[in-house]
Amino acid sequence: MMTSQAPVHTPASIAEALSLRAAHPEAWLLAGGTDIMVYLEAHAIDPPGFIDLWQVADLRGIDAGADHIRIGACTDYTAIIDDADCQKHLPTLVEAARTVGARQIQNRGTIGGNIANASPAGDTMPVLLALDAIVELQSEKRGLRSVPLADFYTGYKRTVMAADELIAFVRIPKPSAADRLHFRKVGTRMAQSISKVVLGGRLRFDGDTVSEARLGWGSVAATPVRSTIAEQMLVGKPLSAQSISDAVAALAGDITPIDDVRSTADYRKSVARRILRSWLETLAG
Ligand SMILES: Cc1cc2nc3c(=O)[nH]c(=O)nc-3n(C[C@H](O)[C@H](O)[C@H](O)COP(=O)(O)OP(=O)(O)OC[C@H]3O[C@@H](n4cnc5c(N)ncnc54)[C@H](O)[C@@H]3O)c2cc1C
Repeated sequence: MMTSQAPVHTPASIAEALSLRAAHPEAWLLAGGTDIMVYLEAHAIDPPGFIDLWQVADLRGIDAGADHIRIGACTDYTAIIDDADCQKHLPTLVEAARTVGARQIQNRGTIGGNIANASPAGDTMPVLLALDAIVELQSEKRGLRSVPLADFYTGYKRTVMAADELIAFVRIPKPSAADRLHFRKVGTRMAQSISKVVLGGRLRFDGDTVSEARLGWGSVAATPVRSTIAEQMLVGKPLSAQSISDAVAALAGDITPIDDVRSTADYRKSVARRILRSWLETLAG
């Protein structure tokens, strides 16, 4: 197995981690290492150093407030799956966490690592986009700042995170009783597969009328994206055959999938249309 000879800093607190981050902006943050180890093995990266966040207890754990749930960036998938508040309020995040790799990856991979790795195929981001999640970035100099996940990605594997920042927390508003949530991952098989298409959805109803629509997608663009044109087709009216068809058709303007080793652009477009229609038709009853 490939290893790195680069120095590894091991902070024990957020303050120490931020100070190391400011002093060594070229070093890579290391959380569970489940993405980084793959890159090292493939000789795809050669970082001059690492800041290992695994021992920073303050970056782990899940706190439920009155109107939101705040998850530490270094919280692993197993902790999310097992957490009673996540099960109750964020069932689609729990579902997504259950599909990430297998038990070994769920015990080690973190939500902050998934977000920061910025893969368009990451499983939690479509769900987090649908839930209007906020990324809390922290630096020694400027403290905490909140960035909606919808504004976090600027291009393929690019984010707004500055060289002296780390992701400290993810804050997720609790869905209301009027929200209907959805998670659908299409991959080669149920376990251990990177997605071909992922949909995280949230529709809020005021009576029969859709008052808010969020459709988060994975593997259909250079970054995790929301399909805002399709969302607009749904808002302000009851779900009907017409509004569903309009939203499905509008997807063409929202997503830009590519051909790659896992799938083709045409297949991804067709699957995206199909899984959106299937969810909306189920909701419409
Ligand atoms: C066998 C296998 C199966 C997998 N299956 C899936 C899957 O089904 N779905 C899926 O989405 N992913 C999958 N992955 C990818 C990976 O497990 C996830 O992306 C995981 O969440 C990464 O978290 P980590 O803590 O291991 O990140 P690391 O590997 O430690 O880091 C990943 C990136 O994030 C940065 N980073 C980490 N923490 C922070 C932080 N707090 N602030 C800022 N930057 C940070 C690192 O510098 C690095 O760039 C799989 C990986 C493997 C090896």
